[in-house]
Amino acid sequence: MKKYIFFSGGVCSSLGKGLAATSLANLLESRGLSVQMIKIDPYLNVDAGTMSPYQHGEVYVTDDGAETDLDLGSYARFTKAPILKANSITTGQIYQEVIKKEREGRYLGRTVQIIPHITDEIKRRILTVGKQPGVDVTIIEIGGTVGDIESIPYLEAARQMSSDLGKKNVLYVHLTLIPVVGGGELKTKPTQHSVKELREIGIQPDILICRAPEMLSNDIIRKISLFTNVEKEAVIIGYDLKETIYELPIVFRQQKMDEIVLKKLELEAGEPDIQQWEKMVSICKNADKIIRIGVVGKYIHLPDSYKSIYEALAHGGIANNARVELKKIDSEDLESFSDEEIEAEFADIHGVLIPGGFGMRGTIGMIRGAEFARTRQIPCFGICLGMQIMVIEHARNVLNLADADSTEFKPETKNPVISLLEEQIDITQMGGTMRLGKSESNLVPGTIIHEAYKSGQIFERHRHRYEVANSYRDQLSASGLIISGYTPGEELVESIEWSDHPWGVGVQFHPEFKSTPINPHPLFANFIKSSLRHEEKNI
Ligand code: GLN
Repeated sequence: MKKYIFFSGGVCSSLGKGLAATSLANLLESRGLSVQMIKIDPYLNVDAGTMSPYQHGEVYVTDDGAETDLDLGSYARFTKAPILKANSITTGQIYQEVIKKEREGRYLGRTVQIIPHITDEIKRRILTVGKQPGVDVTIIEIGGTVGDIESIPYLEAARQMSSDLGKKNVLYVHLTLIPVVGGGELKTKPTQHSVKELREIGIQPDILICRAPEMLSNDIIRKISLFTNVEKEAVIIGYDLKETIYELPIVFRQQKMDEIVLKKLELEAGEPDIQQWEKMVSICKNADKIIRIGVVGKYIHLPDSYKSIYEALAHGGIANNARVELKKIDSEDLESFSDEEIEAEFADIHGVLIPGGFGMRGTIGMIRGAEFARTRQIPCFGICLGMQIMVIEHARNVLNLADADSTEFKPETKNPVISLLEEQIDITQMGGTMRLGKSESNLVPGTIIHEAYKSGQIFERHRHRYEVANSYRDQLSASGLIISGYTPGEELVESIEWSDHPWGVGVQFHPEFKSTPINPHPLFANFIKSSLRHEEKNI
């Protein structure tokens, strides 16, 4: 029988519900179970594609081209679960589907209502994922907090699933906060109220995860258990992790969360094998080398905007037994800096990363950052917009095309080294198009990127509209910009490299989405390796 575990949250948002859900998934996988993950976002947007990185953080792109919530990125980093379009559900999608069916007359004249039509559609989507062959457990994270109007239909659907499938097949995990007030006293009242609210909807949590600054005493756990009707053993403490979030599955394992889940769901599984994970965590905690990477972007003020990039950099550190420190540099600030100020800003960094982005704002500063890295032989990694910036910088400063630009920033430029393809221009007038999701690139032997991947054929995810203009390829190559990767058939440029430079690599795709702490992405590992080399040289 297939099992379903719902994660809800209470008290306030941003307590780490996604991390908790994926850490449990990690533990269940370590016991040989096959897990699927679903994120429910109770907003009316159909997907996260149009949402501002400032409001919403990074948009995580799946292989099949879905633009999703960043929690799906943490699922991908902690588990082997396939993360595809079907693993992301939004209220926009649910209503769109129900209204489509209503227009097609598929409800046979009945009044279409939240219960049962919206809740049925929610359950149908969950079951579509969970019923796939080979899947043992499906973990569903319901975004938002209990008490929000938006999440009510999802909690109702979750409640119904227990009566539809039987109590032994559906488990409810609720995450709350134990805040500290006044003179350091821990307060359990918000947790009591939050569980009470959940019970009013008809859900009694089986497991409670209490987010707290530290491990709680037995007395407090007993008190929480008493007031919430959750067995003492099933009150799990998710205490603050000082060094690495990757420790969370180990913390849950120490409190036997996996055993409790198996027992409650009457599920048979093997002994947990978490050795490899523990080894990785120990590298995170004890790495002897420290490497400082400057991230030159325009969304640096919100930690979540470049989430997967920051994580992938940390993974690159793990691959090299080093801890990566980030120096977040606002590219807009660089625009007004004098040369001396730029020099000072970059003095303590060993590698530069220019991430993706949209729109003109902040790009002048990124170009200055790229120029500094190129001329000072500092390793530089450009991702998507970052690669386009490296091409523009080369065209301006090496090829001496002073007005070289992307038509995204300056449509009337005389030298559009980055532009839309001819075929795209018409399509854009009809509403815009984007290259989204997984596709193939072929790498040129003898290049840094080929050496990093140790392969000439790779598959990476895309999310962009503009391309290196093919009419400039010859000029760019002749002046020393190596074109190191193409789409099959060489229609489009996929990656570039600086010649006469230790490590200047730009890629049109997003390698950060595929990096995990257990399998650090080869490009990030290679970038950190070259940054370490740069650091050693400069001691
Ligand atoms: N704005 C650029 C484009 O659309 C780059 C996009 C990105 O960095 N994801 O091509």
